[in-house]
Amino acid sequence: MSGEPTYGFDTLQIHAGARPDPATGARQVPIYQTTAYVFRDADHAAALFNLQEVGYIYSRLTNPTVAALQERIATLEGGAGGVCCSSGHAAQLMALFPLMAPGKNIVASTRLYGGTVTQFTQTIKRFGWSATFVDFDDLDAVKAAINDDTQAIFGEAIANPGGYIMDVRAIADIADDAGIPLIIDNTTATPYLCRPIELGATLVVHSTTKYLTGNGTVTGGCVVDSGKFDWAASGKFPSLSEPEPAYHGLKFAETFGPLAFTFHGIAIGLRDLGMTMNPQGAHYTLMGIETLSLRMERHVQNAQKIAKWLEDDPRVDYVTYAGLKSSKYFDRVEKVCPKGAGGLFTFAVKGGYEACIKLIDNLEIFSHVANLGDTRSLIIHPASTTHRQLDENQQRAAGAAPEIVRVSIGIEDADDLIMDLDQALSKATA
Ligand SMILES: *Cc1c(COP(=O)(O)O)cnc(C)c1O
Repeated sequence: MSGEPTYGFDTLQIHAGARPDPATGARQVPIYQTTAYVFRDADHAAALFNLQEVGYIYSRLTNPTVAALQERIATLEGGAGGVCCSSGHAAQLMALFPLMAPGKNIVASTRLYGGTVTQFTQTIKRFGWSATFVDFDDLDAVKAAINDDTQAIFGEAIANPGGYIMDVRAIADIADDAGIPLIIDNTTATPYLCRPIELGATLVVHSTTKYLTGNGTVTGGCVVDSGKFDWAASGKFPSLSEPEPAYHGLKFAETFGPLAFTFHGIAIGLRDLGMTMNPQGAHYTLMGIETLSLRMERHVQNAQKIAKWLEDDPRVDYVTYAGLKSSKYFDRVEKVCPKGAGGLFTFAVKGGYEACIKLIDNLEIFSHVANLGDTRSLIIHPASTTHRQLDENQQRAAGAAPEIVRVSIGIEDADDLIMDLDQALSKATA
């Protein structure tokens, strides 16, 4: 589907996966708003259903607009192939599904998007899967958490809510030693800032809802496979290495090589779980990705400037942005995300919970929403919203203490954002 990138990122974000429409010459990727595709004849249909020929059958599995997006994201990540799905959470399930079975577990970072913590602690139990949460800064603890039933390691390159940075290379080495894949959620970094596959990750998942689309219009997700993991080596991944009864005993790893995981995602995952991205959604995301690098540069520039301003402000206790020298993750930026520490961080307001609420209620440009990665600046107070159900100790452990707010810095004028924060901080701490 896509090879090693030969062009630069700015070229690929516009061109990868897209070619003039063969029927009309349309330059932009058309929205193929269709559920089904006419077979040339009965033999063609049979070959498609047997996976002997690649083509379009039904849009729950494949659609040309979605295929263009899959190829574009896979190319930007330097992967062999990608599968888009209906949301970031769907992508996470789609990444785990071929690897897991009842009784199996994953080792996951304690620093994850709140919804992912819920998915991993509660929902996956219903499949008989479980997750062990470990502080990924403690490499010995990560190693110790892996047992014979561990099928994968899962973490975020730049983690919510504080913008913490994971040492992807160090964790990838641990996964290699254990013979299991490392899955990186690269949503908050994007392939522009961080290239997990180059750092040793096997699979990359995205919520395309966030920076990839970039303007808060559609939900979507994507799983990218590096194509580098040998699924047959250990016997631990029978879905990929053993005969598949639903396809006449076909073995995905043997038949599709580096595209085994991608073909499994489409031919089994989307076929049976049905978490499909629609072509209209794919179109919005394709439009967004065309300007990804430009937006990310501005997100980083603005975040850097605003984080510094906040850190120097007496009404603010501390700021968690990894781009600041005061961050314990500052040295990792160069290694993990050399183009910058992203647009997401938290800061503590003097005056605690009450001051945070007042700050948010008095902001004019920032929107109070449960989202991130939008062109517009967003703010949320985790303790009264997303982390409300936790007690104070749990909130602190999750980086969501009562006195902090999380911001997703947009691409507006940084000086306007600073002016807005300034006036709202005055009212909040008066
Ligand atoms: C939003 C988000 C998700 C979930 O994605 P949805 O598209 O909302 O399902 C997963 N991981 C991270 C880091 C996110 O920000």
